[in-house]
Amino acid sequence: MDSSIVLFGPPGAGKGTQAGRIVQATGKPQVSTGDMLRAAVEEGTELGRIAKGYMESGGLVPDEVIIGLIKERIKQPDASGGLLFDGFPRTIPQAEALEEIAPVSMVIAIHVEDESIVERICGRFTCASCGEVYHDVFRPCKIDSICDSCGGIEFKRRADDSEQTVRARLSAYHEQTSPLESWYESKGLLQRIDGNHSIDQVGNSISNLINE
Ligand code: ADP
Ligand code: ADP
Ligand code: ZN
Repeated sequence: MDSSIVLFGPPGAGKGTQAGRIVQATGKPQVSTGDMLRAAVEEGTELGRIAKGYMESGGLVPDEVIIGLIKERIKQPDASGGLLFDGFPRTIPQAEALEEIAPVSMVIAIHVEDESIVERICGRFTCASCGEVYHDVFRPCKIDSICDSCGGIEFKRRADDSEQTVRARLSAYHEQTSPLESWYESKGLLQRIDGNHSIDQVGNSISNLINE
């Protein structure tokens, strides 16, 4: 398997927003554990039943569940050229498990202050057909209520994108996920990006990194 890239950062940092450009530049498919878990919850599978309560409260789903999911994903034929992980790994045990099964060449950490994160998450919505990520103020549709990318007219807001749950997700991030940053730094894989700029500016910084 070719090497993979990890998009790292707190909830709402802009990982999903930036993922498309990296997928285009590298050809590595995006793997979002959050999207996989939400699909499982909607389908009502065993995985979804396990994950639902953790997701609703803003806590992390147990490591063994997530690691199992990634092990299955890596078996798919499209993983041979490496993957773009978005929202995974989120704990040191997850990163250690990943190290055993797939090589990582770069970890792109997007930095954003907690207060901007709350603002970003509380205004987030996505296209129900194609998944394009929007924001009420920062990234509205060009034509009101019509998706720029696919013309879709149905949009979704996540149940866990409320201010109260965002605070819980941020504390999970600070307690369980942020220690991974120095873990990856010590392995020489970490690249920090200032996420407090416009979507295009952040995208350009990421493109520069990838094309280096
Ligand atoms: P993540 O995948 O890291 O949780 P998203 O990509 O879903 O984050 O972005 C969270 C919200 O913030 C979305 O509504 C998105 O439109 C908005 N957003 C993303 N990047 C920026 C940015 N650089 N400036 C302002 N808003 C942004
Ligand atoms: P965001 O980037 O906006 O926080 P995600 O879509 O990545 O949201 O994750 C949503 C929820 O799914 C998390 O709050 C958590 O409950 C669960 N989750 C997603 N990925 C992981 C992971 N790698 N480890 C543990 N829980 C996860
Ligand atoms: Zn769309």
